[in-house]
Amino acid sequence: MNQERFQNGKLKGTPVSSGIAIGKVYLLERGRIHVSKYTLKDEQVEKETARFKAAVKRSVEELNSIKDSIPDDEVRKHAFIIDAHLLILQDRYFYNDVIDIMRRQRINAEWALDIVVSKFLSSFEKVEDPYLRERGQDVNYIYQRLLRILVKGKVSGMDAKGIKGKVVIVAHDLSPADTIQLDLNKVSGFVTDVGGRTSHTSIVARALEIPAVVGLGTVTGLVRNNETVIIDGDEGVVIVNPAPEVQREYLAKQVDLSAQRKEFLRIAKLRSETKDGFRIRVGANIELLAEMDIVERYGAEGIGLYRTEYIYLSRKTLPTEMDHYHIYRKLAENRAVKYTTIRTLDLGGDKFASKIEVPKEINPAMGLRAIRLCIKELDIFRAQLRGILRASFYGPLRILFPMVSGMDEVKRAKAVLRECMDELRAEQVPFNEEIEIGIMIEVPSTTMITDLLAREVDFFSIGTNDLIQYTLAIDRVNEYVSYLYEPLHPSVLRMIKKTVDDAHAGKIEVCLCGEMAGEPLYVPILLGLELDELSMNAYVIPRVKKIIRGLGQSYCKELVKEIFSKESAKESEALLRKEMTTMFPEDFARGA
Ligand code: PEP
Ligand code: MG
Repeated sequence: MNQERFQNGKLKGTPVSSGIAIGKVYLLERGRIHVSKYTLKDEQVEKETARFKAAVKRSVEELNSIKDSIPDDEVRKHAFIIDAHLLILQDRYFYNDVIDIMRRQRINAEWALDIVVSKFLSSFEKVEDPYLRERGQDVNYIYQRLLRILVKGKVSGMDAKGIKGKVVIVAHDLSPADTIQLDLNKVSGFVTDVGGRTSHTSIVARALEIPAVVGLGTVTGLVRNNETVIIDGDEGVVIVNPAPEVQREYLAKQVDLSAQRKEFLRIAKLRSETKDGFRIRVGANIELLAEMDIVERYGAEGIGLYRTEYIYLSRKTLPTEMDHYHIYRKLAENRAVKYTTIRTLDLGGDKFASKIEVPKEINPAMGLRAIRLCIKELDIFRAQLRGILRASFYGPLRILFPMVSGMDEVKRAKAVLRECMDELRAEQVPFNEEIEIGIMIEVPSTTMITDLLAREVDFFSIGTNDLIQYTLAIDRVNEYVSYLYEPLHPSVLRMIKKTVDDAHAGKIEVCLCGEMAGEPLYVPILLGLELDELSMNAYVIPRVKKIIRGLGQSYCKELVKEIFSKESAKESEALLRKEMTTMFPEDFARGA
């Protein structure tokens, strides 16, 4: 890549771990190791076998020493992955298979290893269980390690000791051993070509709060050692060779963030209550079980929204009832949170899964998606509902139906749920008979009938991301119309107010789980509108709690009255900013 072209070059990847890192690149250039294949003479076979055994022994030693030298208690929690690698390495089938093939076919160790690993990998591919299937990746990591030792005859891990100062690790991919082995005091961020939110690097990075952006495609080909990069783990942006003013901008942001973080972790543990004693629950939105550590650390009372699409997106086959059950049971049994709201499949629109055939539609956001799809594809829906019900026996789960547009859909979804309950009862499978059922209020039509819907369900959850999209007729992922995306639009605020008022008149609770809930600026409005719960990305919980604790609800109600007299979102925002800057100068002075 031309250096000039790459001054201040901005790359966009998947944000997987929040925060900003600025540092020098430490490029882990692994490259592909060429596997030489050759046949052996009879007298070479034993020597070759010994070479393979020595490589395995060396790998075991390496992994054990990585485990022993884990520098941090937090990281140690993830060392079980290394144990899994050790087990595979010492697995008799794996080990003996390689030796057996070497002896029978008279081929070198690398070649035999290649054959055995390919066989293992293709069996893993077929495994139903997503967790087990992912273990195929572990076999691959072991293969790479053994290969490096066999080919190069030297330590296969990264030379973490060679790292000077704090660096940003840039790699094609990082094995769990690579990640764990690093002295994390020296790592300020991770950037990789491949990977997604579920890859080990991402999980570890999040648990350790090291900013990370993955899935950048060719970043390893674009940067060189010692070049400066900025990682924005919230935006998924990596800036290579930033201009001095860009660096200054991010540096200031980073300093602010780290000073705030300490304070936030303290606030996370405090009650979510206004100065005049109004309690509002603060929950977390999650997509992965692995996020539960963060949810706990950042002080969520419950899971206000578990987006289950990722269960479908991350696998090649459809999840079975038992797949669902195992995942939801873990949530049900997690005592760190008081409740978990499981939203049934919300595929379609901006979320797709290759395993579910949805016809090509001109306008997918308004097409066969979410609850409409579930009501049509009953087997998919029933597997999920039965999985949730089974798990509900073990702890406080709630069910949430997405994208309903009217009463018929609610009744239909509930009827399917009732059938699942009848079946489970007949099969003598225990479940929570009183499980709470809610609906997302995110299609504008529902806001006009919340009085009726409140009789039919136990709670509402307002999905402002979609509600704003459909109300204002703007595609939520289309950058050209993003300027029209206004949460403070008078019609949006009126819809929220009507939803809450009707819900309370019908004696049910309302959560707001769109992005709007996690925006500190909007907190006084949401408090004034008397929502019962706000659910958001866990990282923003302390920020929102801080604002909640600094406000009085009676003031918020007055402010809402004034906001409702404004004719546009811009006017409302100006008023809000003025008020918030006066009350929380450190949070809003710079237009935060
Ligand atoms: C919403 O629409 O506001 C919502 C929370 O759901 P999602 O973003 O998953 O569509
Ligand atoms: Mg939605």
